[in-house]
Amino acid sequence: MIRVVLATRNAHKIEELTRMAPHVEWLPLPAAVGDPPETGETFLANALQKARYCHERTGLPCLADDSGLEVDALAGRPGVRSKRYSPEATDTANNARLLVELAAQPAAARGARYRCVIAIVGLGPEAVFEGRCEGRIGFEPQGSGGFGYDPLFLPEATPGRAMAQLSPNEKDAISHRGAALRSALAGLG
Ligand code: IMP
Repeated sequence: MIRVVLATRNAHKIEELTRMAPHVEWLPLPAAVGDPPETGETFLANALQKARYCHERTGLPCLADDSGLEVDALAGRPGVRSKRYSPEATDTANNARLLVELAAQPAAARGARYRCVIAIVGLGPEAVFEGRCEGRIGFEPQGSGGFGYDPLFLPEATPGRAMAQLSPNEKDAISHRGAALRSALAGLG
């Protein structure tokens, strides 16, 4: 069984990644390793930065995910700043800010996508994989599953239902993280 350190302390990401790949032995990031930095301007730069940081400190293969929401009417924001879009940096405040910024936009102008880049460092050559999930931003939060912007994100693949209204398996099948992880696992052989 491949042993891979998950270079994140985001409990939601850990839950999603480990349930999608139960045949990998996922190791938690040791407490002695500080939080991986993410100072890049792209998902790719941040994913690589986090995976390299953890590999250098553990000596083990490490997988990092960097992900976020790009909204067309906001020229791609919040993008790499999705986690800290609002000053409070909570899911509720981030979603509230998104609704305010899009208040004047009709449904047709609310296109958006989730993107996820996964980097694996320490298992052969460095490797990166990307997944996307197209959709649009709703007018009010719906559902209680998932995390982050899921109550506002209406995936193209599930008409009439927000990401937060999907079961975990339904989310995995269409999500940006699911797509990136499936490519990564295929790449690992
Ligand atoms: P990161 O930890 O720097 O990659 O930031 C990820 C942020 O993007 C999260 O805190 C969420 O705000 C957002 N995000 C990423 N993936 C998802 C998802 O699957 N659902 C909802 N929000 C997500």
